[in-house]
Formats: sequence, structure tokens, C-alpha cells
Amino acid sequence: MPYLDTCNRCLTATSPAIAPIAVKPSGPGGVLATYRCPNCGDIWKTGWAAQPEDDAA
Ligand SMILES: [Zn+2]
Repeated sequence: MPYLDTCNRCLTATSPAIAPIAVKPSGPGGVLATYRCPNCGDIWKTGWAAQPEDDAA
């Protein structure tokens, strides 16, 4: 799954990657992903370059 991130507040060596709860377009070729940490409840957003799901190269 694309756009996995980790919580900066409770990050440890064994912290699992967190999938976004929402991904919205953010300008040309970009998306803004919203995350909620299941451990501490922190919510943050991270901007990404858009990653197409298909591999039509
Ligand atoms: Zn956390």
C-alpha cells in the first residue's frame, strides 16, 4: 500500500507503518495524506508525490 508513514510522537524501532485514513489530491501530481496514530491518537498530514496504483510503464 502506498503512502505508509510512521508516528513521530511514539516512533520506535518496532513501530508499524501506518496507512492513511484519508488521501486527497493536493495540486498537480501531489496528494495530501492524513494519518491517525492508533497508539497515541496523534493526527498528522504528509504530502506525497502521487503514486499511481497501476504499473503501466
Ligand atoms: Zn503515535
